[in-house]
Amino acid sequence: MLLEKLAQLEQESRKLAPSTSERQVLNQKIIDYSNSFVDEIDNRPAYVISSTDGAEIKDYPIQEEGRSLDEILDLLELAVHTPGLNPASGGHLGYIPGGGVVTTAMGDYMADIFNRYAGIFYGSPGAVRMENLLIRWMCSLMGYPETALGNLTSGGSIANLIAITTARDKKGITSKKVDQAVIYLTEQVHHCVQKAIRIAGLNEAKIEYIPMDELYRMDATALQTQVEKDQANGLIPFLVVGSIGTTDVGAVDPINSIATIAEKNNMWFHIDAAYGGFFILVDECKEKFEGIERSDSIAIDPHKGLFLSYGTGAVLIKDVKAQLESHYYKANYMQDAVVREEELSPADLSPELTKHFRGLRMWLPLQVHGLQPFRACLEEKIYLCRYFYEEIRKRGFETGPYPELSVMLWRFVPQNGDANAYNEALLNAVKKDGRVFVSSTTLNGIFWIRLAVLSFRTHKHTIDILLEVVDGFEKE
Ligand SMILES: *Cc1c(COP(=O)(O)O)cnc(C)c1O
Repeated sequence: MLLEKLAQLEQESRKLAPSTSERQVLNQKIIDYSNSFVDEIDNRPAYVISSTDGAEIKDYPIQEEGRSLDEILDLLELAVHTPGLNPASGGHLGYIPGGGVVTTAMGDYMADIFNRYAGIFYGSPGAVRMENLLIRWMCSLMGYPETALGNLTSGGSIANLIAITTARDKKGITSKKVDQAVIYLTEQVHHCVQKAIRIAGLNEAKIEYIPMDELYRMDATALQTQVEKDQANGLIPFLVVGSIGTTDVGAVDPINSIATIAEKNNMWFHIDAAYGGFFILVDECKEKFEGIERSDSIAIDPHKGLFLSYGTGAVLIKDVKAQLESHYYKANYMQDAVVREEELSPADLSPELTKHFRGLRMWLPLQVHGLQPFRACLEEKIYLCRYFYEEIRKRGFETGPYPELSVMLWRFVPQNGDANAYNEALLNAVKKDGRVFVSSTTLNGIFWIRLAVLSFRTHKHTIDILLEVVDGFEKE
């Protein structure tokens, strides 16, 4: 009876491990489908307005019986890979793109097949060493000492959260002290920083928004004045967050001056460089980021500036002991996993335990392509943004600040009529055309169209398509 049951269950459960020939068929179909997507990417729209918005997904509920892969791929094409934004397209010029170099996927494929346990050194020493090597490489780019570490996260949001949590604990902001604590930001900080502050239990701290100069950079003098004022009132200034590349205009805060104020006043200096950080690979940006090595922590997004597919951010932390203190935990059932001082485990440095081996998806592209094309690609993005800036101004458009990196604002002010309405209509026309995609923002009540160039697939011809759509636009 028992043996019969086992045999029957085994027969059924073995379906989860397809045979060599079955795998070959599945692999080939998925590779063919993915390859044709990549081969056709320049002819596919960057944005598709669809009437169903992927609702076909609902017609395929999870059921007892499996379905054919052909049917599944048809559904994916229709419901997932068509409607909305196509972030793999070079025409994605909205939000902050990146693209997704295909070698990321190859790394992921192996990470998933081999399924190494990258959370703990004891489980997979090689995987942990690889992730730590990548983190140390990023630390060295930033000028951090060899003792610095951090964590490979799912994205910039979690990277910011880990940094803010560490800052909170290092500066002794216990729940009893939160209402005396002060955090300094600008209004241009990415909203995930405010989210992280709330999640970290710091919502009742005083949040001071420091005024900005005309280029939307933090006014360091105003920061100093505010810190002194707060200290005089018996408050505890403990954290200042600067940005290297704000989302709206790509502004770079005065890093050196902020670092000096942070050092003088015993504050943690965190930099959100999720968008801009990897521009440090471009010589002319090094100067702009001067003082970055004086910060305490940095959030940076390889799924933006290294063009990886979504799912890889990083936090770099100078005082790794502080990061460890905030994130480690010992459980009895983990007693075999001895802590190795020279190679700390991701599980002790982040909220995660079991996690995707995301190091491989970053390591493989860097190993296969080498750094050179990444550098060139980042520099190309800066020049493409400048090219658009020049061209759009020639056409009589207004712009925001001259692009510091590869993000800028632009809009047209017609002689008659509402400028905001005009630019909204222009934005919709770009979406309707679909070959390229841009997004918008509101700054001091003014509607601006944004251009964000960061996909490795974006080249001059992409920008020319945008200019062509702008030139052809006639408001009804
Ligand atoms: C994208 C971005 C974030 C958020 O990162 P995610 O990877 O989307 O979680 C934070 N800050 C800045 C400046 C960004 O551009």
